[in-house]
Amino acid sequence: MRDLLHVFIFEHIAVRGAMVHLDETWRHIRSLRSYPPVVERLLGESIVAAALLASTLKSESSNLLLQMQGEGPLRLLVAECTSDLGLRCTARCDEEIGAAPLNELMRNGRCAITVGTIDEARRYQGVVPLDRPTLAGALEDYMARSEQLETRIVLFADGDAASGLLLQRVPERIDTDGDDWNRAVHMGSTVSADELRLLAPAMLLRRLFPEDDVRLFDGRPLRYRCSCSRERVCGMLTSLGRTEVEQVIAEQGRVEVTCEFCGRSYRFDAADCDRLFG
Ligand SMILES: [Zn+2]
Repeated sequence: MRDLLHVFIFEHIAVRGAMVHLDETWRHIRSLRSYPPVVERLLGESIVAAALLASTLKSESSNLLLQMQGEGPLRLLVAECTSDLGLRCTARCDEEIGAAPLNELMRNGRCAITVGTIDEARRYQGVVPLDRPTLAGALEDYMARSEQLETRIVLFADGDAASGLLLQRVPERIDTDGDDWNRAVHMGSTVSADELRLLAPAMLLRRLFPEDDVRLFDGRPLRYRCSCSRERVCGMLTSLGRTEVEQVIAEQGRVEVTCEFCGRSYRFDAADCDRLFG
């Protein structure tokens, strides 16, 4: 099965959803950098979550950036899904971390979601405290507090695959009582990693929601993509200022900037610096 995002809507109750399955993309991300197992699993969950949440955006030209920050052994977790469904993620953490709930790995944490096109000066951002033990729980809490949207998210990640399912109560359609939503959540929460991995999406929906009429849209391909470039690093160095950059070159012979997402290094020596500042 390819790496795909599938969106679906329930025809007769006010619920919509999405599902994501990644294997090649996830294996590629795992090959870029190594993290402690607990952080790796959270990264897998976070890129799936970024794709699931991106599917709920009103504008298809928006990028979605998910950021969690806190104090503790895991300081930063970032996942991005671009408007063309390019995914990347990164984390900052201690070298060794034991398994623990998310709100213990990140104490006094915050969860932020930024939505907007890359060139937009004003982006929309919501921030809520991070006080849930799981990533899925933290994002459900974010959607409820920041967006007033009832959402259920199920996430899986292991060494081979990362996958997930999202259900959301549609606010514009109020032709349902809480019972339909609760029933959909109850059924959707039973989904397993194997079902997401092995079953065709249409078959999975029939199995999860046998009583409902669910319309499934064509899958859209997801892939790994890092938007870093030498040009962007030049922009960053320019804003840092000539004095600062020349000082580093004087001390270390060159400036080296490494992309936190893909690990690519960009090097600048004295001649590059002269060209940069003309
Ligand atoms: Zn990069």
